[in-house]
Amino acid sequence: MGYNLSIGQITEDQHGMRIECPHCQQKAAITGHNKLSPAVKDVYASCTNADCGWRGVITVSHKHDIQPPKAQLHSMMAEWLGALPAADRSAVLRQAGVGS
Ligand SMILES: [Zn+2]
Repeated sequence: MGYNLSIGQITEDQHGMRIECPHCQQKAAITGHNKLSPAVKDVYASCTNADCGWRGVITVSHKHDIQPPKAQLHSMMAEWLGALPAADRSAVLRQAGVGS
């Protein structure tokens, strides 16, 4: 899943995704979240550095597909194949090794 942070910073370590305070770069703890849509979430974060004390909201949103879900691939293929003339459809299926 491609996720994009509009505010704050995210890094990867051996524990996976980590949110950093955008001010002191220390680890920020996630204190809550608010789902705005299936692809956009507001994440409430709080800096763990007591000397900093930052609290803020980070937006996590879907950016683009690296691979569409299988169901979508199937319907796209069916749509494309359906739009082809029968002869071309057979040629494509033969090329894919699935036709007669
Ligand atoms: Zn901080």
